[in-house]
Amino acid sequence: MPIQDPGLDVTLREPVGVCALITPWNFPLVISTWKIAPALACGNTIVVKPASYTPLSVLRLAEILIEAGLPPEAISVLPGPGSAVGNALVTDPRVNKVGFTGSTEVGSKIMALAARNITRVSLELGGKSANVVFADADIDTAVERSVWSVFGNTGQDCCARSRVFVERPAYDDFVAAMAKRTDELRVGPPLDEGTELGPMISAGQRETSLEYLEIGQKEGARLVTGGEIPQVAGGEGGFYLRPAVLADVRNDTRVAQEEIFGPVACLISFDTEEEAIRLANETEYGLSGSIWTRDLGRAIRVAKAIRTGVISVNSSHSVHTEAPFGGYKRSGIGREMGMHAVNLYTEVKNVYFSES
Ligand code: NAP
Ligand code: MG
Repeated sequence: MPIQDPGLDVTLREPVGVCALITPWNFPLVISTWKIAPALACGNTIVVKPASYTPLSVLRLAEILIEAGLPPEAISVLPGPGSAVGNALVTDPRVNKVGFTGSTEVGSKIMALAARNITRVSLELGGKSANVVFADADIDTAVERSVWSVFGNTGQDCCARSRVFVERPAYDDFVAAMAKRTDELRVGPPLDEGTELGPMISAGQRETSLEYLEIGQKEGARLVTGGEIPQVAGGEGGFYLRPAVLADVRNDTRVAQEEIFGPVACLISFDTEEEAIRLANETEYGLSGSIWTRDLGRAIRVAKAIRTGVISVNSSHSVHTEAPFGGYKRSGIGREMGMHAVNLYTEVKNVYFSES
């Protein structure tokens, strides 16, 4: 770095040390690799605590890494309940950094626990993201992609764009088209080639979605389709749920404000660009988002005005390996992926060499 004093100034990036990586069940392998790969590449050693529902893929990944030549001391996988194992990792003074993906509630606890030892934390938390559809958009494409951006992974996706805002002139047609496409989704066993949506992770997770469907209707929303428990041949014992579309939702109701983490879409109409921006921002979260319009100026204005870490225009893609990923507001702290991940897994040391 050029400095005013004579001599030479060098900035080093060093490993943080021991990283505890705590991950959720909804994309158990993928989300773990977002942490494991940069942490190891930056020279750290890691202890991975996978979600209790889904420890196997990370255990296998660790075996493969060791087979591929990673020193076995560099990685440990420690399955077990978050309240015990996770808690112990976060408060252990030998842990230098916690990388966490999960709920905002647990993230907040982890941040408080990590404060004791000034342990570094990065948090990828919940979301209630906006999908803003203007009437000038390619509506057929917007409908098709909106269905996937909320129901993909059976709605168990932190990036789910579960609040779908549609400009008034397109609203009725959009609701009908989204309901029709939703009805066509093939719910079935995950290993069947024809399956589009698999079961949910647990009875409890499905129960939460069913409760929110009740709450939404009490709050005045209209259930247009879905929300039934289907009979799935070959899927006995699975926690299946037909994806549900709630229309005429008010953005200030619980169903529009709380993360459901299930296949429930909330459709909300708007009249102006300003209103769309205001409604999109009226949430405690800020993780993902999409905008559908053919008006480039509008796309730029709205993309800049929505307070969210990730937003896409005329696309439902929200994650790219090369690009930063993470949340504003209560959706988290820090950015994973691409070069931004290096900031999470290194300390910066400045070294000054005198000339004399
Ligand atoms: P979670 O309940 O917060 O759990 C996440 C991880 O934390 C699990 O491994 C869990 O262990 C552990 N844990 C629980 N309590 C802990 C504690 N007191 N101290 C340390 N660790 C603890 O989340 P989840 O139910 O697995 O996943 C759903 C949530 O994750 C949703 O809110 C979703 O939005 C969020 N998510 C965010 C992103 C993102 O990138 N922003 C991505 C995916 C999911 P157990 O499994 O043993 O409870
Ligand atoms: Mg949980």
